[in-house]
Amino acid sequence: MKRSCAWCGACTVVCPVFRVDGRESLTARGKMHLLASRLAERPSATFRDIFSRCLLCGACENICPRQLPIREQVIGARSGFSAFYGRHGVRRTLARLALSRPPLLEGLVRAGVVLEQHLRTLPPDSGLRLKLGLLESRPVIGRAIPLGSGRYVPGSVSYFTGCLARHLQPAVGRATVRLVRRTVGRHSFVPPGQGCCGLAALSAGRRDEARRMARRNMEAFAASDGPILTSCASCSAHLATYPELFRDDPVLQEQARAFAARVREFSDFFLEPVAAQDPETERELRVLYHDPCHLRFSEQGRSRPRQLLDSIRGLQRVEAAGGGRCCGQGGLFHLGYPELSAAVFRACLAGGMAAGPGLVVTTCSGCLMQWQQGVVLEKQDVLVLHLAVFLLQCLEKGQEEGVSAITGGGLGEENACFADGILLKRAGLTGKSRGRKSRSPGFRDETPAGSGTGPEP
Ligand code: SF4
Ligand code: SF4
Repeated sequence: MKRSCAWCGACTVVCPVFRVDGRESLTARGKMHLLASRLAERPSATFRDIFSRCLLCGACENICPRQLPIREQVIGARSGFSAFYGRHGVRRTLARLALSRPPLLEGLVRAGVVLEQHLRTLPPDSGLRLKLGLLESRPVIGRAIPLGSGRYVPGSVSYFTGCLARHLQPAVGRATVRLVRRTVGRHSFVPPGQGCCGLAALSAGRRDEARRMARRNMEAFAASDGPILTSCASCSAHLATYPELFRDDPVLQEQARAFAARVREFSDFFLEPVAAQDPETERELRVLYHDPCHLRFSEQGRSRPRQLLDSIRGLQRVEAAGGGRCCGQGGLFHLGYPELSAAVFRACLAGGMAAGPGLVVTTCSGCLMQWQQGVVLEKQDVLVLHLAVFLLQCLEKGQEEGVSAITGGGLGEENACFADGILLKRAGLTGKSRGRKSRSPGFRDETPAGSGTGPEP
């Protein structure tokens, strides 16, 4: 029997968009009401806009007593819209198309690196920066981690990089590969045929495009066996749902099941091997872990990264006041609704900063970029790093400059690893303002070009 909305309103309390906008139509209840009405038969521009203003965060679904598949319904509604629906539809569509075509994305990133040189004089909140969409929050300087030759060495850990670690912040990819080598003593295999996980396409209602991308990834990893490690929470969550994408095709669904069973979320993969290395920070550090929405609503998704951080000596883990919230990035949502996205972020930031962290870490590419850009725009003196980069610094503190080098403002513009530092520098929050001389922490880039396996320690 088809379940229907009970109009209880539980979803309104937790919806990050409703919390800052206040319009009932934007809640899950409002959307369920619209979908059940005749307005759904011929969606108007307003109707399409309402369904575009959803982060697909899943908070409503998590609390809904009827267990309605709200995100699926929102995606289903979007699938009936024209390609450029909602605000900044062209911009979001171009970004989605770039994600689905690795050569195009690489070209854009290369162009962005050149553009970056010319944009440095612009303030971070410049309108020109904001108009640049994909590139506006692209704090990248550095080359993409190389894909493998296609040859798989038995015993290697297969690595699904996702777009951030491959193209936008390659230091995250390099740190992950190096962590694998250092903590489990294995090579990383980075299959050449892999691409975007397809979440952005599915979220836009483009199911066929998402299936095509899923098939490409399944084929890319078919030559290997063992775990498929991901460094992005959103990617890992989406890869695990591939069987759902092929529910009408038993053969492909079986392949998708085998693929999904191999996927390992970052914190879950590294919890034991990192803890066994007895990591520590050089000095006491208050660290806030930001929960990506794709992990926030499962017990394991919440506990694993916290356990990982708790295994680091010298670290004091703090929690956001009022509990964690969605950061407002929402895949391509921030491109369509930058003001709304920023308002959602400010609410998230207020809770996080109330805990007084010196460092924020997360494992989702979207959250990472949202936080890195957001703390600059909001002029907050806090660093934001991917957990992979932070863990590596803790483990290599004897050989590298250590965590204090990061938190103390030792930030090198040539190192993509410290892209957040670049942003902070632009905001005038590093270097002299922190009473320290700016310097490069010297994160080593040892990934050999064209290698099918990761760098040696
Ligand atoms: S998925 Fe998130 S943003 Fe969308 S309606 Fe539900 S709570 Fe609101
Ligand atoms: S929580 Fe579920 S049942 Fe209650 S109003 Fe929201 S969508 Fe409807």
